[in-house]
Amino acid sequence: MDAHSKPNAPSLDSYWMPFTANRQFKAAPRMMASASGMHYTTTEGRRVLDGTAGLWCVNAGHGRRQIASAVERQLLDLDFAPSFQMGHPIAFEFAERLAEIAPGGADARLDRIFFTGSGSESVDTALKIAIAYQRSIGQGTRSRLIGRERGYHGVGFGGISVGGLVNNRRVFPQIPADHLRHTHDLSRNAYVKGQPEHGAELADDLERMVALHGAETIAACIVEPVAGSTGVLVPPKGYLERLRAICSKHGILLIFDEVITGFGRLGSSFATDHFGVTPDIITTAKGLTNGAIPMGAVFCSRMVHDALMHGPDGQIELFHGYTYSGHPAACAAGIATLDIYRDEGLLTRAAALEADWADAIHALKGLPNVIDIRTIGLIAGIELASRDGAIGKRAYDVFVDCFEKGLLIRVTGDIIALSPPLIIEPAQIGEIVSMLGDALQRAA
Ligand code: PLP
Repeated sequence: MDAHSKPNAPSLDSYWMPFTANRQFKAAPRMMASASGMHYTTTEGRRVLDGTAGLWCVNAGHGRRQIASAVERQLLDLDFAPSFQMGHPIAFEFAERLAEIAPGGADARLDRIFFTGSGSESVDTALKIAIAYQRSIGQGTRSRLIGRERGYHGVGFGGISVGGLVNNRRVFPQIPADHLRHTHDLSRNAYVKGQPEHGAELADDLERMVALHGAETIAACIVEPVAGSTGVLVPPKGYLERLRAICSKHGILLIFDEVITGFGRLGSSFATDHFGVTPDIITTAKGLTNGAIPMGAVFCSRMVHDALMHGPDGQIELFHGYTYSGHPAACAAGIATLDIYRDEGLLTRAAALEADWADAIHALKGLPNVIDIRTIGLIAGIELASRDGAIGKRAYDVFVDCFEKGLLIRVTGDIIALSPPLIIEPAQIGEIVSMLGDALQRAA
């Protein structure tokens, strides 16, 4: 008997699942019951190797007692306190700890931090801060936002407006935004380890947007340094540098959405450090608390922050915030997570594993239907040829097959994305490649 058909198992009817084919799932559910280290255990008692750090978030691995204990202590000391016109020390402590690792160098550190509850909230917060900043420096006509095709910035109205995924956009109205072309180009950049050679010139799209709309209408440009959710798109060499230069030239704020790349995914604290290009604002979530408690954080430069710290005495500088901004339990989880990252060297571990990871994953080249493999840090994208008239079906079959054999992967369209916890051992990289390779062989 399946666990979900046991006498006391809950009915599957009431829970409306997010980003899920509800009817398909409920006909054949996949249920996780527990997790520890690199593994989940399903409700049937099967172990599943986590090839995706949950959803790009469990960077320090599962079941970290240190995080659980910190959250428990905090909930018993102070479970909640309002953060509007009130404070609690742990939120200031966590912000200070984040400021210590914030990128940007001594002179331009992005060390002013606004807390949110998720990646989507971080993105909408960053976009609002950018528009408020422009207004505060006398650039009130700048409200247009620039995103990128195949960008994913969560599901708020701001995020879907700058995002570039048609399914997230077509049903909903949006705020004024335009989009750079994406940088994915298999004809020039297939099977690359690290940054592809070709495509820096695509950043010049931003000049076209300036010519089309007028710089005086554009507040900010937001991109993921490495696009994750839309299939692992690594920026071509020189691309981010060029985007930075064009933004600076035209007074446009540059926002890096580091919800996936933040906290060690590329082998440094942030992608900003990895690529050596510093934006004005960074959005984060996920690895911020190791996925244990929902939370996001927006890192702002002092230039952005200080421009808003004006106005009459007692005036609220930014009319924005969430009931759960700086939630004590989330801050406790975040501080414990940072301790683990520091003590176990996890923010740089992906750099040490990167070469072996890339070699292992690229060995899947040549398997049936594989048309591209790309890797950077501890991320991999494996692109499959789509079946005629059935985009996404082949990768979905591989996903289900892998899950049944004991490996969790993630698929978007016909692209498989891998992003294991940063605690992964070399032997487990081998297990991922072997299980995935077998599934690819079986997927006709
Ligand atoms: N931004 C990026 C780059 C993401 O990858 C995600 C989620 O995958 C989000 C924003 C949204 O985060 P959340 O699902 O926590 O709202």
